[in-house]
Amino acid sequence: MLIRVEAVGVCASDVKCYHGAPKFWGDENRPAWAQRGIIPGHEFVGTVVAADQNATVQRRMSIGDRIVCEQIVPCEECRYCRRGQYWMCAPHEMFGFRGFNGAMAHYVLVPARARAHRVSASIPPQHAAFAEPLSCALHAVERANIQFDDVVVVAGCGPIGLGMIAGARAKNPIKVIALDMSDEKLALARRCGADLIINVGRDDAVKIVKDLTDGYGADVYLEGTGHPAAVAQGLNLLRKLGTYVEYSVFGSEVSVDWSIIGDDKELDILGAHLGPHCWPAAIKMLESGELPMDGICSHQFPLAEFQTAIDLVGNPSGGSVKVSILP
Ligand SMILES: [Zn+2]
Ligand SMILES: [Zn+2]
Repeated sequence: MLIRVEAVGVCASDVKCYHGAPKFWGDENRPAWAQRGIIPGHEFVGTVVAADQNATVQRRMSIGDRIVCEQIVPCEECRYCRRGQYWMCAPHEMFGFRGFNGAMAHYVLVPARARAHRVSASIPPQHAAFAEPLSCALHAVERANIQFDDVVVVAGCGPIGLGMIAGARAKNPIKVIALDMSDEKLALARRCGADLIINVGRDDAVKIVKDLTDGYGADVYLEGTGHPAAVAQGLNLLRKLGTYVEYSVFGSEVSVDWSIIGDDKELDILGAHLGPHCWPAAIKMLESGELPMDGICSHQFPLAEFQTAIDLVGNPSGGSVKVSILP
């Protein structure tokens, strides 16, 4: 399919790739994964303007449909794809990084292997494009296997953290607690369903959570900040036998006392990557209007101002949540 791009979110990973992070461009320990000459942009929505038989017959998509695509384009041949674990596909081709041009452009070619989902034309395009980060956040929540009686703590109220809060709230535990340094983002967290917000720049989150739980600690900790201090914080505020889910990409190595994980608390430490099997739920959530999307999608720029958009995402004091480009 060929789609005309309506909106593309600027991700923290786009900024890291733009500035040459080793995770994308390699270092002495790993080869480059990103490819030169690829147009960035993996959080996109667009309208189908041309389609071949594969799209119209097999996918049952039509010209004029509005679609979002999963950022990974699975090979369908590797060990992971053959076992249905397509989000861990070994070649790991992704729109905007490797194999396929992304959506910071007027048009994107959607290959036959891409995973596309229809989305309502009645929501603003930047909201529809948020299906990508939201599906990732929902996958992190699913990894945590939240129970009704759980106290769930979400660290970080950026796009992923806010999605985690909304997802955790949808699982209906006793309490969802949001942590951040920004009062504005914490206010959004409340609108996403947080029962309690804690500004970790002012207050001691570990103490507050312990006090709230008769000294035991939280049942679940979802880490979405990418800040090394948030790792130790999570290990410290979890109860014994608690669950820690890591979603972030870190800019530096993290040192913690690993004996907390085993000898002290017997924690479950889980990773999460991409948003497998969460796209329909993410799209439903966006279409329902239950999320404060006008607050989350804080900034929109035309394609010509992509540099401003990238710089804003890279500026921690820039006051943005989700920055989008509307080509
Ligand atoms: Zn992203
Ligand atoms: Zn594969």
